[in-house]
Amino acid sequence: CGIVGVIGKKDTTEILLKGLEKLEYRGYDSAGIYVNDQAGHDYLVKEKGKISQLESAVGPEVQGMMGIGHTRWATHGAPSDVNAHPHVSQSGRFYLVHNGVINNYQEIKEQYLKGVNLVSSTDTEVAVQLIGVLVEDGGLDTESAFRKALSIIDGSYAFLLVDREEPDKLFVAKNKSPLLVGVGDGFNVVCSDALAMVAQTKDFVELHDGEMVIVTKDKIQLMDEQGNEVTRKPYHVNLDP
Ligand code: GLU
Repeated sequence: CGIVGVIGKKDTTEILLKGLEKLEYRGYDSAGIYVNDQAGHDYLVKEKGKISQLESAVGPEVQGMMGIGHTRWATHGAPSDVNAHPHVSQSGRFYLVHNGVINNYQEIKEQYLKGVNLVSSTDTEVAVQLIGVLVEDGGLDTESAFRKALSIIDGSYAFLLVDREEPDKLFVAKNKSPLLVGVGDGFNVVCSDALAMVAQTKDFVELHDGEMVIVTKDKIQLMDEQGNEVTRKPYHVNLDP
């Protein structure tokens, strides 16, 4: 339902939680964050219920330099802690939040995930497990695995993916679900609605269906479906935080 992400900011946790609060008006049944300090520590906290419940569950140790967050409006699998996003690949390497619906999740499960123990009953978990399999069994690098997964997945999505072995990058993609990249000075943000991040920046790059983006703290690498570079100027929003 709602997505936020940030890279290059010391107050990552606070930015994610404040961003999720801004998206509350859209309605949701659970929420979660994943934070990585780019120095070997990372944290996953997810809770059924209100953002305030998530906030109480986030301890003071949850600090980092990059992270992703989600408010969920369940389409596949009941609202619960385990069905809340971010979802994790079996090895614990990949973390993913998703807005939308994966139509062919059953086929993906049967065709690619025979050896995988799915822990949730969401369509979303299939996507992160697929990326895990394509990297760990298929030998692809993360960018290629993500692109391959996008070509296999049929449905609507805004995805934010983290590889804990490359915590200097956010992997981003969208199809039929809104997603924006916000441009900062020495940091960048990602969100499904500019409202979530106008406290950080007012300059946003709109993403088009089928595009993929690799976001670091000082670079936004926008690509089309085939991986060709795309250039697009940010637009300025006049919204008050
Ligand atoms: N289909 C996903 C789920 O049920 C994502 C729903 C959403 O957009 O919040 O977990």
